[in-house]
Amino acid sequence: MTTANFPLPVPNLDNQEFWDQCRRHRLVLRRCLDCRSFCHPPRPNCPECASSNLEWVESPGKGKVYTYVITRQPVNPAFRERLPWGVVEVELEEGVHLISNLVDCDADDIEIGMEVEVVFEAVNDEITLPKFRRVGQ
Ligand SMILES: [Zn+2]
Repeated sequence: MTTANFPLPVPNLDNQEFWDQCRRHRLVLRRCLDCRSFCHPPRPNCPECASSNLEWVESPGKGKVYTYVITRQPVNPAFRERLPWGVVEVELEEGVHLISNLVDCDADDIEIGMEVEVVFEAVNDEITLPKFRRVGQ
């Protein structure tokens, strides 16, 4: 994979642990210890009760395609050779939604409701992206 000029996440204080665990092929989510809500993307306070009493919990990374979009125009030149580019919103079993891509699946084969599980794709020494693949096929 050519990653030159490809836009990548920039870890910050709130999500460093998320990216560190992705590098170890573990998907972790931020959860509030007071109201048990998940907080994704990771942030310093719970969006439901504003508590800063948060923990990291590991997710099995199983869910379904909630919705998706297929990009057929290279809005960023880095995507030109990857078109059509499918972006999925996955609803994990925990109810958390993640924006990602599917691996081993043509963009035109993506379907809402498709069962998926997380896989990890190392891009460089710092960033490993959580991606998803179909299960049961
Ligand atoms: Zn809370």
